[in-house]
Amino acid sequence: MSRIAVFEGDDASPEVVRSAVQIVDKAGADIEWIHATADDPALMRDAIDNSDATLFGSASARSVPAIEYLRWGKKTYANVRPITTMPNAATPLADSSGIDFAIVRENLEDLYVGIEGSLADLSGAGLTDRIGRPIGDHGAGTFAVKLVTTSGIEQVARSAFELARTRAHQRSRTGRVTIGTKHNVLPVTDGHFREVALDVATEYPDVEVVSYLADDLARRLIISPRELDVVLLPNLYGDILSDEAAALVGGLGVAPSGCYGTDYAYFEASHGTAPDIAGKNIINPTAQILAAAMMLDYLGQDDPARRVRSAVHSVYAEGSCLTVDVGGHASTTDFTDAVVAAL
Ligand code: ATP
Ligand code: MG
Repeated sequence: MSRIAVFEGDDASPEVVRSAVQIVDKAGADIEWIHATADDPALMRDAIDNSDATLFGSASARSVPAIEYLRWGKKTYANVRPITTMPNAATPLADSSGIDFAIVRENLEDLYVGIEGSLADLSGAGLTDRIGRPIGDHGAGTFAVKLVTTSGIEQVARSAFELARTRAHQRSRTGRVTIGTKHNVLPVTDGHFREVALDVATEYPDVEVVSYLADDLARRLIISPRELDVVLLPNLYGDILSDEAAALVGGLGVAPSGCYGTDYAYFEASHGTAPDIAGKNIINPTAQILAAAMMLDYLGQDDPARRVRSAVHSVYAEGSCLTVDVGGHASTTDFTDAVVAAL
């Protein structure tokens, strides 16, 4: 029996979270759900602290304290976003078959530490820009800190190489980690990310490692997505490139996400709360359902995880009951019912 905190989230999120919970139960998973909200901070932390993992529905501003606690409170440093072909899902590619990679996004550092301020705060710090001009000479304005720690890079890089090793074993081929940074423009911060990741690579001689500039990688995602296996990225590039990558296989509606720390993990769809389609029963629950399958993997409930994935894939392969975002006509509940029937 696993104890799972479940947050339904905001706007259209409850529609996909209810679908995922229904399917996980139907798949025979052994789970006790602890329903939680971000409204009372102490209850919210209790629900998370007394659970094995969280299934999270995307949050608007109202629920930000929950996501802050799940990420920075529980130190879930590795955000894993699998990008896998979904049969019959509409995509911009002429042929989207055979795409199968995973983005590992650093989840706590980089520009997301939330240290921003007025340039006036920095004027006495003795900092100069690339042409030697003191910060104070730039006039009024703002700045953000891009914070990168050696231990932070090491732990997310190890997650990426471990994942590459696991995937190589499952697929009987050599694993590869592709690193994307802007080490040319940011030699100190992104250069450090790249150097430390390449150091970690030496602990994994069985895994290939490739390093590209992040902008070059954005192009390669489109022209040669089948060459990718595990993609390791700093926080900001990982956020942006994972939305781009999702478009290759059917869009945000099919892209799940798991955020892993040393002793806790939470699972959510890669997409936001989709406020524009809330309450219409048209949101695609696939991303949330596949995130719940990642949660079952994490909990060691392998059989229910396999049943959930194969039911979802069979509904896509059959193709007549898909939601509007991937080119079909079905409602959220029609799609959910089809997955339940496949189970
Ligand atoms: P956030 O800042 O939380 O990431 P966002 O601005 O990126 O949010 P999303 O909520 O991800 O916005 O939605 C972007 C667009 O994709 C919206 O038009 C939304 O309706 C659509 N969308 C997102 N998720 C789904 C889904 N599961 N099914 C169908 N459409 C979706
Ligand atoms: Mg977004």
